[in-house]
Amino acid sequence: MTTHKLLLLPGDGIGVEIMREVERIIAILNSKGVANSFETESDLVGGAAIDAHGVAISEGAMAKAGDADAIIFGAVGGPKWDDVPYEIRPEAGLLRLRKDYDLFANLRPAICYPALADASSLKKELVEGLDILILRELTSGTYFGEPKEIVTLENGEKRGVDTTVYTTSEIERIVRVGCDLARKRSGKMHMAAKWNVMKTGVLWRDVTVATHKAYAPDVELELILADNCAMQLIRNPKQFDVVITDNLFGDVLSDEAAMMTGSLGMLPSASLGAPDPKTGRPKALYEPVHGSAPDITGKGLANPIAMIASFAMALRYSFDMTKEADIIEKAIAAVLGNGLRTADIMQNGLKKVGTEDMGKAIAAEIEQALA
Ligand code: NAD
Repeated sequence: MTTHKLLLLPGDGIGVEIMREVERIIAILNSKGVANSFETESDLVGGAAIDAHGVAISEGAMAKAGDADAIIFGAVGGPKWDDVPYEIRPEAGLLRLRKDYDLFANLRPAICYPALADASSLKKELVEGLDILILRELTSGTYFGEPKEIVTLENGEKRGVDTTVYTTSEIERIVRVGCDLARKRSGKMHMAAKWNVMKTGVLWRDVTVATHKAYAPDVELELILADNCAMQLIRNPKQFDVVITDNLFGDVLSDEAAMMTGSLGMLPSASLGAPDPKTGRPKALYEPVHGSAPDITGKGLANPIAMIASFAMALRYSFDMTKEADIIEKAIAAVLGNGLRTADIMQNGLKKVGTEDMGKAIAAEIEQALA
């Protein structure tokens, strides 16, 4: 039996409440003696770490993160820390983890659970059974390129500048991750860029084609202009499986794809780094897409599904525990199918439950499947 080390960083607000539901599932997996067991450590991040240590993540927590096989992250922030200096704001903890571990590949699945197909803003037949994965480059491109500034011109006008920069190796590594993911799924991958108007787009196209040819010719590759991709996602989302794209387009396309499938409380994510030379396993952080939701903190209303689905992603992508990841995802689908809903996804005639009852119901399904 292999023991995997998890660092749990619940953070602030509902992060703390939804992480408890992941701990409930970890306890079940450990008690059922599945092929792998988990050892967990916890630490502070975000506002909680600022209160305790004056920084959004302590050196001690960073050391634990370095030691862990995967980091499970809740959410950070809240009004209490809105006025702390920019450099030590709660998000700085998350950004440091992403930067220090070079978590360049951001996986954003858009899965439409059958029971929620009616709640989508698109027609049911377009989204029912939808399962796509947007793979966004996370550590380069427009958000990081220099110069990045607002300057005052001689005529008094201001000029804002953002710079989009990519190198061959930055594109190659995300293409390889995309090919690996596509192989584990339907074998199909799109690459979205703007090679018609952007030099970085030309580089993305050329490097993608060359890397795909050398690394994964068995994967079916289709190139698509990013604006067309945005349209096609609305017109016929099921034509996509894995879509790789840069940081800026990925930011927009991943939100577009994800929101077809329901509430913020349903959306998981993963951020992966380069494979560790010793273990072959990438450094990885798993987190819900949503924030700390101060408006519902402490009321037991938070939907724990995004957090639980993020943990399922950890099993799938860090530990190759496909069977257990499938069991968790099926448990979520089953509970939704049984009509249980947290307030954010409530529909007429169904049963409204809080965070803990939703977590317990999912845990019970998992326990039954593992029995
Ligand atoms: P938010 O995602 O926290 O909340 C937006 C809305 O969605 C709120 O009405 C909230 O109640 C609801 N919501 C979010 N998650 C939910 C869940 N699991 N179940 C039910 N409802 C849910 O975004 P915000 O209000 O813009 O930001 C609140 C704080 O979170 C801010 O301090 C912000 O900086 C921070 N934030 C952190 C992260 C992160 O930790 N990665 C991401 C986004 C925002």
